[in-house]
Amino acid sequence: LTSKLPQVGTTIFTVMSALAQQHGAVNLGQGFPDFDCDPALLDAVNAAMRAGHNQYPPMAGIAPLREAISQKMAALYGQAYDPADEITITAGGTQGLLTAILCCIQRDDEVIVLEPAYDSYVPAIQLAGGVPVGVAMTADYRIDWPAVRAAITPRTRALILNTPHNPSGRVASAEDLQTLSALAEQHNLLIISDEVYEHMVFDGQPQHSVAAYSALAARSFVVSSFGKTFHVTGWKIGYVAAPRALMNEFRKVHQFNVFTVNTPVQYGITQYLQDPRPWQDLSAFYQAKRDLFRQGLAQTGLRLLPCEGTYFQTVDYSALSDLPEVEFARWLTTEIGVAAIPLSVFYQQTLERQHVRFCFAKKESTLQQALEKLQQLG
Ligand code: PMP
Ligand code: GLN
Repeated sequence: LTSKLPQVGTTIFTVMSALAQQHGAVNLGQGFPDFDCDPALLDAVNAAMRAGHNQYPPMAGIAPLREAISQKMAALYGQAYDPADEITITAGGTQGLLTAILCCIQRDDEVIVLEPAYDSYVPAIQLAGGVPVGVAMTADYRIDWPAVRAAITPRTRALILNTPHNPSGRVASAEDLQTLSALAEQHNLLIISDEVYEHMVFDGQPQHSVAAYSALAARSFVVSSFGKTFHVTGWKIGYVAAPRALMNEFRKVHQFNVFTVNTPVQYGITQYLQDPRPWQDLSAFYQAKRDLFRQGLAQTGLRLLPCEGTYFQTVDYSALSDLPEVEFARWLTTEIGVAAIPLSVFYQQTLERQHVRFCFAKKESTLQQALEKLQQLG
């Protein structure tokens, strides 16, 4: 068998979680909460199952959930997505991204990927027959627009944006979105906008979604995930919003990819979305964790990079060690007892940086435990 993804091994998240478990380390590697979701959400899903919502839902997802998402997006971003044919429920952000890429990328199309990039983008582009073109972000993880411009060729078909950005925690500015809009217009690019952390933006700043910019929204797939927003990463449910013509193509692939996404969770989330507070309060919830974690990290030799959104904190460890990132992350897990994710795995190119990422979507006690161990580094 000839591998379609010869360069791909097991994802770093699985590798580091296994290593953390094997060594009894505090797992701040793979991004997931170590606390449970709101019991009201569990009750809503349970009630849906008992009410008999256990067979195939409509292919695009149940209508009331698409309606609720449409209303939320209109309220937040001022863009009216038609729930009938511009929103589809997906099996998490991952399936939304893969399906969006498969439906619009043709053989040899180039797709710009801003690196460090979440690890599913490059393989998804390759499965579609496209060519991922990595463009490194600046040293402090802003989008390097001159470098993006330089990477555009007549073959460039799309760009993948991720804001708030995993792993750096950066949030794109209004200016970034305006620049992107002009570039996309000029070069007729499609945008795949990964906004799974849209409700985790700190310090009173807004999320600048592509949905909020009409010219951009007209050429974008917007991807989000309830797993992130409602602390249920294992439920694998999210959605994609896109204008009619794009969504029409998206659904052609979606129907032969998963066909539908599990029914009772869709009903449960629809019910739970009636109250906006859970997602409205999420930024404050994670900002408190960020602040606690950053205060503790300030007493180590780790240098903190800015964290404007997401539940990730990236640090520079160059004052402590000159190990390469993968080795440092392993050492930190096995010797110090705290698992982290090396950033080098999010690049196609090799960069001489000494950065690792911690996930702070953890109980205060877990963060304290990790900080006590990390303070041995100081
Ligand atoms: N995009 C980014 C940037 C992510 O961090 C994640 C979750 N790790 C996903 C997409 C996938 O989301 P989901 O778990 O809903 O598939
Ligand atoms: N999104 C999560 C992270 O960045 C992990 C998802 C996964 O394990 N594939 O850590």
